[in-house]
Amino acid sequence: MHHFTYRGGELYAEDLPIRELVSSYGTPLYVYSQATFERHFTAFDSAFASIPHLTCYSVKACSNTHILRLLGKLGAGMDIVSGGELYRALRAGIAPSKIVYSGVGKTRTEIHQALEAGILMFNVESRGELERINEVAHQTGHTANVSLRINPDVDPQTHPYISTGLKENKFGLDLEQSYEAYMRALEMPAIVPMGIDCHIGSQLTSLSPFIEAVERVLAFRERLCKAGLCINYLDLGGGLGIPYDQEEPPHPEEFGSVLTKMLAGLDITLILEPGRVIAGNAGILVTKVQYTKKTASKEFVIVDAAMNDLIRPSLYQSHHNVAEVTPMGRPEHTVDIVGPICESGDFLARNRIMPAVEQRELLAIFSAGAYGFTMSSQYNSRPRAAEVLVSGQHANLIRRRETYEDLIGPEESLP
Ligand code: PLP
Repeated sequence: MHHFTYRGGELYAEDLPIRELVSSYGTPLYVYSQATFERHFTAFDSAFASIPHLTCYSVKACSNTHILRLLGKLGAGMDIVSGGELYRALRAGIAPSKIVYSGVGKTRTEIHQALEAGILMFNVESRGELERINEVAHQTGHTANVSLRINPDVDPQTHPYISTGLKENKFGLDLEQSYEAYMRALEMPAIVPMGIDCHIGSQLTSLSPFIEAVERVLAFRERLCKAGLCINYLDLGGGLGIPYDQEEPPHPEEFGSVLTKMLAGLDITLILEPGRVIAGNAGILVTKVQYTKKTASKEFVIVDAAMNDLIRPSLYQSHHNVAEVTPMGRPEHTVDIVGPICESGDFLARNRIMPAVEQRELLAIFSAGAYGFTMSSQYNSRPRAAEVLVSGQHANLIRRRETYEDLIGPEESLP
């Protein structure tokens, strides 16, 4: 459910016509709906209201500080994966005691920054990382709360690039390695083993992989408890999918109800790290048609957004619905919607049946709120797009469009 709807023949973000936003801010333009963010976060978080829990929004999905601040005000904690994300979360006023830190490659500097900030816990992904956190914490007079990320070897039935809980993936430790690591953690002076962490993948459209993972995590928790280590924090990561096209992922309420039943009666605080389900359908990317072009075998719509603005179609062959901002009712054609970048992999949609469009028309690329702007780059020396957050009739520019100066600034301001 989102707040991008057609009224009187044109697309609105909440109560503002997209056309007006484009007049003010140009294209390509990321447009987010505040009411959609609020609705998604509240629906997700309240699904776990009956048990102790903390919903840590996954910053990587959409990391604009204005969005983080908005979610923070609703009670969100944050799941971070880098020093940069820690910086963003703190700048957005998120309490460090609500921040969990995931990711396989934390540097000494990043670990030190997180310890200084006083985050809730590290989700540790290897023995080497555990040793390093202990060392840095010991040397700097801190203690570090940790969860070990266990890799339960469950198939999340999603795109291979966003599967993380299979034994061939780089994430986490298998159950045996995890057990040994917990036993080692008990001997470490600066480590408090406080939780168990698990994130099996992203864009999951069925509950069964989650259920399988939770069963394995709970059995593992039992085993640790028998060895004298009783763990009270369980971090189940993110991963709940969204409808991009025909998918019918479980509603957060159903997700919450199944998980809360599985954890009922246990002395556990649940941590969740949703990203896509909060941000995905809360944002669209608006682009302007530059040219249409017909070759012997294809019709192309060349727009001013490209893979540098939204890489998901190129990277994962993912589907985003594309529609005219002002539908003209022309006959349908099969087209490839492509950007100006010098790569054949630069497409936003392929073999898409849609009404014919003309130069200067605006198109909306839906479900672009998660892993959209955050994965954007300056490839082909294209300044990154602007981001605007709409609330009712108000538009708030939350990131200005980059300039050519922004492209070369770091190359010129050298010591
Ligand atoms: N937590 C971790 C450790 C992740 O790697 C990710 C995404 O890959 C997430 C949470 C968020 O996942 P999603 O956006 O699918 O909810």
